Amino acid sequence: MNFIEALKLKSKLLFIFIIVTIGLVIIGVMGAINLNSMKKNLDSLYFGSLVPVIELNKILQSYRGNLANTLYKAKNSEITPDEVKLQIKFSVKTIEKEWKNYEYHFKRYEEFPYVEYTAAEIKTTNEYFLNILKGIEDGYNVKDLSMSNVEKKITHIYSVVSKLIDYEIDIAQYERKNFLNLYNSILLKVGAVLIIVIFGVMIISYYVFKSIKNDQTTLEITTKKLKIANKKLENASYTDSLTGLYNRRYFNLVYDREIRRAKRTHSYITFIMLDIDYFKQYNDTYGHLEGDKALKSVAKVLKDALNRPSDFIFRLGGEEFGILLSETSESDSVMIAGNICDLVRESKIEHKGSKANKFLTISIGVACCIADEALDEEVLISRADEMLYSAKESGRDRYDITTNVSTATPQIVEEESA
Ligand code: GH3
Ligand code: MG
Ligand code: MG
Repeated sequence: MNFIEALKLKSKLLFIFIIVTIGLVIIGVMGAINLNSMKKNLDSLYFGSLVPVIELNKILQSYRGNLANTLYKAKNSEITPDEVKLQIKFSVKTIEKEWKNYEYHFKRYEEFPYVEYTAAEIKTTNEYFLNILKGIEDGYNVKDLSMSNVEKKITHIYSVVSKLIDYEIDIAQYERKNFLNLYNSILLKVGAVLIIVIFGVMIISYYVFKSIKNDQTTLEITTKKLKIANKKLENASYTDSLTGLYNRRYFNLVYDREIRRAKRTHSYITFIMLDIDYFKQYNDTYGHLEGDKALKSVAKVLKDALNRPSDFIFRLGGEEFGILLSETSESDSVMIAGNICDLVRESKIEHKGSKANKFLTISIGVACCIADEALDEEVLISRADEMLYSAKESGRDRYDITTNVSTATPQIVEEESA
């Protein structure tokens, strides 16, 4: 079903619509053709056989019930000659009219010879009765009429017309059978086409919906993959590949955001800047690869020491790190800075080239304040930087902290020596 899978959703629905429409058109055309032939069949059954039987029966009735009866009554003087004349005229006219009607209907080819024969017999019989009429008009007494002759004529025409009636009834039965067969075959044909169309549409719909579902699943999988890839890309663009800490780019983003939040809530904000001591010598002594390892170790110490969700640790560049703490008081900031300093030293990374300690150490500058609208975020950084410089100057492996971030002059609050 590659063909269906290749179609777009809109085309798929259009495809179903076209198939259903074609199916319905076929059913419609088939129905119209079959209904038409059914109508023809019904017509020939009704107007070709059943109605003619009624007309032929009327003819019989006119011969036996009217003409013969009238003549019998006349012979017994139950009616006047004028009434007899009237009855003969009326009956012959009725017979002629009914015969005309009968002849008008559809006839089968095989019927013609017998119909023509019957027409001739009716004509002869009618002439016979018209002769009686003429005789009466000429003064002939009806009582002298031989009723056995009349009876003979009537019996003959009766058997002739009855035969025609039987023939028409046979035809009617035959037509009825045909009609029922046609009706059943139409039902079968339309039913079969309907079933085929329904099955066709079901199968096509199944494949179309399956392929739509496949499309959807593919889309969902692709979207998921894309999301994961995006997340990875985002993380990669905000992460330092060596240490796994946030990079400078993320620092720029987070720093502004956190400062704004602290300003809004008038809460503590602390920025810590730290730098590895004598790292140039470290690289020179142990090589660049070992230097990288040392950077990773320091990063790990920082990550282990700071685990609140609101703590952000950045590698700002080289062997310089930044830490942003929210809602951390001055004393807590001092504790954290001291702790980090101790932990790095206590991780006992040998550093022969250091003048501060035999192990690798860091120096830390801390700027801590309660943020307000007047706070200049650049000053917070420069104060931390100044504190770092001050710690370096004071012998390294220590931290300096200031809480004065509103003026350009740094105010050293506390200092710790190794
Ligand atoms: P100070 O105590 O004053 O900070 O002295 P320092 O030697 O650490 O200062 P300096 O800024 O002169 O040297 C920093 C060194 O850090 C220089 C460079 O070789 C090293 N460094 C910077 N980035 C990396 C890095 O990604 N990997 C390694 N291995 N070394 C790096
Ligand atoms: Mg440096
Ligand atoms: Mg350094």
